[in-house]
Amino acid sequence: MVMDPDNLSVVLHSLKDLRLEQRPIPEPGPNDVLLRMHSVGICGSDVHYWQNGRIGDFVVTKPMVLGHEASGTVVKVGSAVKTCDRVAIEPGVPRDMDDANFCYKLPDNVTFEEGALIEPLSVGIHACRRAGVTLGSIVLICGAGPIGLVSLLVAKAMGASKVVITDLSQERLSMAKKLGADYAVTITKGNAPQALAKNVADMLGAPPQITIECTGVESSIQTAIYATQSGGVVVLVGLGAEMATIPLVNAAVREIDIRGVFRYCNTWPMAIAMLASGKVNVKPLAFETTKQGLGIKVMIKCDKNDQNP
Ligand code: NAD
Ligand code: ZN
Repeated sequence: MVMDPDNLSVVLHSLKDLRLEQRPIPEPGPNDVLLRMHSVGICGSDVHYWQNGRIGDFVVTKPMVLGHEASGTVVKVGSAVKTCDRVAIEPGVPRDMDDANFCYKLPDNVTFEEGALIEPLSVGIHACRRAGVTLGSIVLICGAGPIGLVSLLVAKAMGASKVVITDLSQERLSMAKKLGADYAVTITKGNAPQALAKNVADMLGAPPQITIECTGVESSIQTAIYATQSGGVVVLVGLGAEMATIPLVNAAVREIDIRGVFRYCNTWPMAIAMLASGKVNVKPLAFETTKQGLGIKVMIKCDKNDQNP
């Protein structure tokens, strides 16, 4: 196989100091694989690190190569590794295993772009699992950014009967409707959370049993709690300010379970199965929206010889 000597990387050196630089191509160790990158999604967290130099306790102290939503082709394997496949990458180290184990083979009918979208899709899968979405669930999703939209796709695939989604942006809500949202609520800054909660209940005929908060915005977390049916679940996916004022007594006396979500765990095989079977379609998140200039999820194509999805 002919190796491309190019390894142009996006490196964040410190706050607002983003550079494009060539990096050496590493030689894989016995348990490693070397990938020729194909598609890499830009995540809100990449932008956040660039603009703020940190996300909570995670602070950029040394140059950091960006890009954790990725897929590519195995071009070189260590002596202990066996395959040469198209793969999606799980960008974490949850267990004590070798690097090749974080690559998941993509079936031929799953594109590289879909492979790169498995990372955000995994956040949606984990959030819906934590929330207990099941057949017939009535769900409110706050925020129609990439994470709110993947949560919508997964909630629908898990059998939610009705999904309401909120956002400030009409374009994002139109995309949500296209992806299967039953109702969309346009939020205007200054809307009272309790009034919004009532709107949502009126729309559905009953309050949602589950709310998946995907903005991290204080007023939206307040709406999430007020809107959820007594005995229901609020999952906090959005990560905003360290401290937030929330209606805690309201949550306590109505026995609302508030659950945290941090990324994902054991989601890649399920995500690949859902994409390959066509039960979940993430394609509109990538190319169609970018083509329309809506930019839900921007993809970088790394291989100049292959610009296909
Ligand atoms: P995003 O900024 O693209 O989307 C957020 C959306 O919320 C935007 O469309 C915005 O218009 C909308 N919004 C803002 N204020 C609102 C309000 N008051 N009511 C309704 N909608 C409102 O971000 P994203 O990439 O979709 O990520 C969403 C959040 O999830 C971020 O806070 C991100 O940090 C977080 N996140 C958490 C995890 C995790 O593991 N917990 C993983 C990935 C992302
Ligand atoms: Zn991400």
